[in-house]
Amino acid sequence: MIRDSAADTIVAIATAPGRGALAIVRMSGPRALEIGERLIRPWPSEPRHVGLVHVVDLSGDLLDQGIATFYRSPASFTGEDALEVSCHGGPIAPALIAAAFVSAGARPAEPGEFTRRAVLNGKLDLLQAEAVADLVDASTRPAQRLALSQLDGGLSRRVLGLREHILALEALSAYDIDFPDEDDGPIPASRILAAAKGVIAEVDLLLATAPVGELVREGAVVVIAGAPNVGKSSLFNAMLGRRRAIVTDVPGTTRDALEAVTEADGWPIRLVDTAGMRDTTEVVERMGIEVSREYLERADVIVVCGDSETSLLDGEQAVTALSGAPAIAVRTKSDLLDGMKAARNRDGQLLVSAESGDGLPKLRRAIAEKLEASRGSLALDAPIVTRERQRFALAHARSELQQFHDAWAQRSLPAVVAAVHLREATRVLEELIGAVDVDDVLDRVFSAFCVGK
Ligand code: GDP
Repeated sequence: MIRDSAADTIVAIATAPGRGALAIVRMSGPRALEIGERLIRPWPSEPRHVGLVHVVDLSGDLLDQGIATFYRSPASFTGEDALEVSCHGGPIAPALIAAAFVSAGARPAEPGEFTRRAVLNGKLDLLQAEAVADLVDASTRPAQRLALSQLDGGLSRRVLGLREHILALEALSAYDIDFPDEDDGPIPASRILAAAKGVIAEVDLLLATAPVGELVREGAVVVIAGAPNVGKSSLFNAMLGRRRAIVTDVPGTTRDALEAVTEADGWPIRLVDTAGMRDTTEVVERMGIEVSREYLERADVIVVCGDSETSLLDGEQAVTALSGAPAIAVRTKSDLLDGMKAARNRDGQLLVSAESGDGLPKLRRAIAEKLEASRGSLALDAPIVTRERQRFALAHARSELQQFHDAWAQRSLPAVVAAVHLREATRVLEELIGAVDVDDVLDRVFSAFCVGK
């Protein structure tokens, strides 16, 4: 729970810790400028104009030389008075400056507190704030592109449009409430039903983007499976190419997999080689394939490898028995096949050589096709639902709209009661964009932020 008092002036190092040329210390709140004027010399002449400055502590000791910019409320990221100092990087200078600001009256910021204040001051809505977090967390270009378009307000505008349509629907149905004695109020019920259906269809269009949005944000889990020695790890490395360097052990409980982020025809994928950690990988119940059960369950696509017809068929059988995820059959080490054998290769089986790189583009395309088939097309220019929170809210609004519709269709509720569903749908959408002040929603959204954001 954030100590939420806009009366506090907050400070944080906004850049990542560690060695780096520059770091940024950020301060926001009612005392930001007063504290800055005491510790920064000379104080920049105007807001939003950079100044080359010395930063000192309360006793006047020089802490660092840097560039300072101050902002006057409301023209700042948070909407409050704010100060940003670009100082030298590394562990000392930014920490000294932040500590000096604290000793002069600021307090260390909680994770996401700057962005939270931006939301509370109407600088960003909640969907845009989530986009800020997504931008920082994006590890692929598609995920970053999606976050950028959400920051631009695309999704917010769609949700606001929906809200407008629900309000219009409520106004339509209100005529009926005002004329309760008429058999069929001045607005025919058919018109209200059609309008309700129209809004539901709009919600459905947006909801239909969620599978793609969540997948782009998180990356599709693509698991490489197959018998020992068929070439899984080699394929994993070949798929990553020079991006091999970002391979890391998966943090958390399972340490039996290597996972790395790459792309398959625009889709961000998390490629998993569970054979990468020999000693802990189970050969699943003597079915002959090396892959952890947990990853089989989480897979969006499974790449089944075999370096012979037999090993590939065995692998495919095992995978089909163990998982419902779509699978791609890959005949590995294709460079070892002579032309005759390659020509006899059966349909639906890709020939790939990790050694020569042959077949890798086709494999990427095949992965993308499986994802398109299960999630829908990858059109990132239109607004897309990217989080469970957003999907739940839209599904909730949809259910309220449906109940309104059904109540009208069956005349099962008085109009005034049916309209309660519309009000609830509106409230849910307002909560979704953060237009109504709901602390627990803010807490949930901002708890995952970094300090300084
Ligand atoms: P894993 O146990 O399934 O992960 O298999 P590895 O990737 O460790 O490969 C097993 C052996 O096959 C190694 O000796 C690799 O050098 C070899 N190998 C893997 N891929 C290819 C390939 O595309 N062509 C050739 N000629 N050999 C390969």
